[in-house]
This record gives sequence, C-alpha cells and structure tokens, in this order.
Amino acid sequence: MEISAVYQGVDGAYSQLVLQGWAAGRGLAVKTHGASTYREVAAALAGLRADVGAIPIENAIVGTVREGYDLLAEFDLEPIAEVLLRTDHRLLGVRGGSLEDVREVLAHPLVINECGRFLSSLPHARAIPCEDTGIAAREVARGGNGSIAALAPASAARIYDLDELARDCADDPRTYSRFILVRSRLNTVDAPAPGEKRKTSLIFSLPDAPGTLARALAHLDANAVNLSKLESKPLLGQGSDHTFYADIDGDVRDANVATALGGIRGVARSVTVLGSYDAHVGAPLEDGDGPSSLGSGRFAPDARDDKFGDKPVRITSARVPRIETNSAYPRVDRMSKPDGTFVKVDDVTIGDGTFTIIAGPCSVESREQMVATAQAVKAAGAVMMRGGAFKPRPSPYAFQGLGWEGVDLLAEAGRAAGMPTVSEVMTIDQVERMTNSISMLQVGARNMQNFDLLKAVGRTGHPVLLKRGLSATIEELLAAAEYILSEGNPHVVLCERGIRTFETATRNTLDLSAVPVLRERTHLPVIVDPSHGVGVRRWIMPMARAAKAAGAHGLILEVHPNPPEAKSDKEQALTFADFAAIVEELDAIPTERMHARTGA
Ligand code: PEP
Ligand code: MN
Repeated sequence: MEISAVYQGVDGAYSQLVLQGWAAGRGLAVKTHGASTYREVAAALAGLRADVGAIPIENAIVGTVREGYDLLAEFDLEPIAEVLLRTDHRLLGVRGGSLEDVREVLAHPLVINECGRFLSSLPHARAIPCEDTGIAAREVARGGNGSIAALAPASAARIYDLDELARDCADDPRTYSRFILVRSRLNTVDAPAPGEKRKTSLIFSLPDAPGTLARALAHLDANAVNLSKLESKPLLGQGSDHTFYADIDGDVRDANVATALGGIRGVARSVTVLGSYDAHVGAPLEDGDGPSSLGSGRFAPDARDDKFGDKPVRITSARVPRIETNSAYPRVDRMSKPDGTFVKVDDVTIGDGTFTIIAGPCSVESREQMVATAQAVKAAGAVMMRGGAFKPRPSPYAFQGLGWEGVDLLAEAGRAAGMPTVSEVMTIDQVERMTNSISMLQVGARNMQNFDLLKAVGRTGHPVLLKRGLSATIEELLAAAEYILSEGNPHVVLCERGIRTFETATRNTLDLSAVPVLRERTHLPVIVDPSHGVGVRRWIMPMARAAKAAGAHGLILEVHPNPPEAKSDKEQALTFADFAAIVEELDAIPTERMHARTGA
C-alpha cells in the first residue's frame, strides 16, 4: 500500500526524512508532498489530502516548538507516533567549491542556533535564515555560486548534487529534533497497530494561584504516571494565567493515566488531551548518514513528488482562512479544506468545476416510465438519475412510492443508461439496503434534522445528498452535514431546495443567496433543486439559470414522460422537451468560478 505524506519544505527537508524513514521502517511505500508552512501541513491533513504528516514539537537546543502542539489542538489531528531525528548538519556547497570561498550560509533559524560555534569559525561568512533546510540546499544549487553554502543533511547533497564542505557542524553532536506524526481523525487508511510504549501529550491552563501546578502534578504522582516534559507559556490577555505543554508516559486508555487526567481536569481551567501515540523506540540517535535512527529499511523508490495526488500543491497561506475552533461544524467548515471537496458518485464528480445535472421523476412509477426518462434525460445532458421510491408526503393518502420495487427500477434504469442514481432514504433501516444498488443516498428536507438518520448515512461512507430543511437556517444545514462527516463520511453534497416563507405564489422560496453563503462557509459542493423551489414548471428555467450563475455546482430537476399523469408533484414536472431546453440554455452560462474570485 502506498500512503501520502505531507511535510513542510521542499525535497531534502528534515521532516521529509522523518516521514520517509518512518514509512520505510514499516515497509510502507510513501509519496511525500511539500507544503510551505506547518499550518498548511495541518490543513492538508484535516482536509484528507494526505494520510500522514510530520509536525515538529521539540528541538534539543531551543526547546518546545509550541506551534506544533497548538496545530494539533487547532486542527484536532490525531498523533500516531513520535520520532526523534538526529539532525546531522553538514555544510553543502556547489561542486568543486571550498570552505574558504563561502561568504553566506543559508540555514533554518534552529540550525543556525545549533551550529553557533561552527559558524563563528568561518570569519568571512554570515548566516542567513531560511524557511527550511531543503530550500537552503536548493537555493545553493540554483545559485551555482561558490560563495553560498547551506547547512543541511547529507541527503540534501545527493538530491541537489552538492559537495560536502564540512561535516559535524552542530555544536553538540547529540542534538536532535522531536517530531510527531499526525493524521486526520477521519482518515480511513488503517493506522499502524499501537506499539507497546505509548506517550500522551496535553495542553492545560491553570489559574494563577499558589499551589495550582503542584496540585495538578500531584495527580500524576498519585497514579504513578511519569511526566516526561513540561513547559509553560503565559496566556496572553488573561492576567498571569499560564498554559502548560506536557507529555506523560502511557496511553489515555490506561486506567492510571485516565485517573490522573481526571484529577488534573478538576484543578485546571481547561485541559486538551492531544492524544496518545507510540513513543520513540528506534536505535540510539548516534550514527551518521540521515535518519538511521528511524529504522533500517530502504526509502521507497518514488519518494519524491511535489504534488497532492493529481493536483499541484496550491495551498498558500492566503487561501487558508482563519480558524475558528468554536465552529459548530469544524469538519464541514471551509477552513478544514480550503480547496473544496469533490464528491465522486461512481464516475460522476460533483464539485470539481463541472456543472452536474441530475434529472428524473419525483416518484418511480413504472419500468416504462423509468426507461423512457433515463434515455431522454441522458440524451439531453443529464449525468445522474433521480427517482423517489420512499416518498415523504404530507398526506397519508397520497401516493407513498413503490418502495423496494421502485428502488430496483431506478437501479435498473440507471445501469442501462450508464448513469449513477440518487434516491431518498426515510428511515435508518432503509439505509444499508439502499447502498447495495443506489449510488447516492438522499436525505430529504423533512429529515434534515433526523439526527439518527444522519448518523446512519454517515456510517456508510456512501455519497449523500443532504437537502435543506423546510425551515432550516444555513447554519442548521451545515450542522446537519457535520453529523454525517463526524461519523467518518466526507462524501456529502448540499442541496438548496427552497424554504417556507410568508410567500405563497411559489411552492417554496428558493433561497439562491444560500449558494454563495454556503460556498464561502463550507468546502462541500452545493447544488440547487429549482423544481421543489418554485413548484411550477414554467418558473424552473429562470431559477435554473440563476442557480448556475450564482455558483451552484449543479442542479437536480424533476422530469416526467407525461406530467399531467405524474403520481406526485405533477405541477413542477418538466416534459422531456422542457428539460432539453433548460439544459441547452444552461450551456450558455459559464460555470461561476467562485474560488478564484473570493478566495473562499
Ligand atoms: C424529493 O427530492 O423527492 C423531495 C421529496 O424533496 P424535498 O425533500 O426537498 O422536499
Ligand atoms: Mn418531488
């Protein structure tokens, strides 16, 4: 199996070596991707664009890298392993260069700190801070100039074809950096089984009063939990209260650790347990070339790449919005996936910049109806087929749908026409069976806040079309989607289908302003259902056009071979000719590139 890993920097960065070494030690092939900041590493993991990432949390000389702990908390990332890397700094210069010619040394600020004595032994050279070790080496290679050198690992010399001008540049050869390998809690790629030696990291804050820290730590002592690290920082704007970064031995699932943490909670103002992970268990950090402490395996052959999957790395700090940790929908929030989600429904992708048209009858009524409709809507440009088999009708005497027979007819028509299908599930016990033959599960407006149903579709991993409730706010729609994602299913498409207002001229009031609002607030694709939105055939065309112009990723439309005979929603059913005319009109409207314009 190949996993994708994200680190900060470019080829040759220490954190890339950490990931390659860790994967090699476990026999995993890995593709590494560079991001430009650690925040972007965290965002890429939270957005499931990479399986695992490396975040530094401590440097032997400089101390805690607080940003590392803070990012884990902010993005709710799951730590899986700690890795100690001996940072074996060498001075790298252009081929054939010499130490005497060096005037400028590019290096990461931490590395400049670690190599103070060596740098002062070069009287003619000055140190220039650089974001990352890999970048330092790459700049030397690009410059092709013997007066510039970089402090970097031996592997960077190989990558950038540089000469080693000096080795053992660190003041203390025992220097190391501590990294935590992290992933999204939603990642479905299996994590390695937990090792025997575990560690737990936490952040807690204490009121500024005599004895509070001692009382908090007494719970560790009383439960025989070893404290392996403790550091404090002032809580800005809150008097002299402090935040503490701590690592303890053991796993939160160990009874003594859990009891100790419970005790600390009783004393502290707040406790965030970042998680438990494998403690570093490699060989001692003593030997030479590269990350030998990380396992003896070879690196995967294709370990170098600068892309996320098929997409070039495009995350830049400007595209990552401010994080709101108190968001009611952190997984749905645009910040967790700034580049947007593409939902794949068989061979159709919703949200990728194409405009997806889903069409079919309100209710599945017969084989003839389904076969004719499938052919007609496909020929006109639909790529997916809809059809209700379980119908939520206001009156118990109205047509309730054909049930499982209807599901089979929709599946059959979709298969024959080569289109994925979508159909509504009304109850939890319909969910699993529906996933066997229908490509996408619809949660209807009336069930948008049926939280148990949301959790049930969330557990399937099947694509879900979530329709906005009749009187649901945008906020409530997003929170409903969060239910599905929080169960581990990220394949959700939202649908604006009109809301209940005082207006009675239309069946509902199609709230097209929800489209730009949703596009800004969430990374999930948004489609519009103008059929239920207006409820009157002749008004569907203008609203379909408006929806596309507003930035929707697609439409869902009701189409029937003979609308006056439709068993449900006949006033809004489009004829085949109506539908074809709408699709043709839509072709003239460009897909709105909201991303490019708003940065959302
Ligand atoms: C439907 O799409 O068939 C339907 C019943 O829609 P809504 O849940 O939006 O009323
Ligand atoms: Mn309908």
